[in-house]
Amino acid sequence: MTTTRRKLVVGNWKMHGSHKANAELLEGILQARPFGADVAVCVPFPYLSETAVALAASGVGWGAQDVSQHEQGAYTGEVSAAMLHEFGCRWVIVGHSERRQYHAESDTVVAEKAKAALARGITPVVCVGETLAQREAGETEHVVKRQLSAVIHALAHCVGEIVVAYEPVWAIGTGRTATPAQAQEVHALLRAQLRAASPRADAMRLLYGGSVKPDNARELFAQPDIDGALVGGASLKAADFVAIVRAAG
Ligand code: PEP
Repeated sequence: MTTTRRKLVVGNWKMHGSHKANAELLEGILQARPFGADVAVCVPFPYLSETAVALAASGVGWGAQDVSQHEQGAYTGEVSAAMLHEFGCRWVIVGHSERRQYHAESDTVVAEKAKAALARGITPVVCVGETLAQREAGETEHVVKRQLSAVIHALAHCVGEIVVAYEPVWAIGTGRTATPAQAQEVHALLRAQLRAASPRADAMRLLYGGSVKPDNARELFAQPDIDGALVGGASLKAADFVAIVRAAG
């Protein structure tokens, strides 16, 4: 039986933006509607509120780029899932490789963050991916499965509610994309791992991320287990982001 999954394209603005730039970018996206795929943008925390207002009732979703694993308390600088929920936040990226690398987020912490988000009804986009050294050492499968396994363990039957993003670290922001075949190979492994954990595995969306651009998106999206993209650099230009969304559906 084949399952049709509606494609999803999520923009990750990282630490970019200003009131003016955001307004122009969001306007460019809104003007290009309707879309044949689901679309969301994940923005820096201070811009959540204005993004919520700009995108209200537009059909374009929005979310954050991180969330605390803690419910509340003395965690200076952290933002809880309850706070995101209060804004109406629907999506949050967790375990991005930049968080794993620069903030030493372990597989366990990433899994706890995913759990905290889900507990407030926010869909975590859980990132997994190997470094170049790990790929060259033949460790890709082991690494991505270990990262996903921590999340499966923490979420148990709820794992079917998450979105997974395969983002090879060597392809993020480098202009070097995994070939569609390389990406599909890993996506198929992740799908198989999810099948063993959730009856919803075939309905779950697995995104590819790593230098997705208008000119490589269509071929990536044609792969059977690639259900959309997590887009960094190209999500900052409305024309490029919209072109990627169009390639998705
Ligand atoms: C990302 O930040 O998740 C990402 C994939 O970045 P880029 O598209 O710039 O490689």
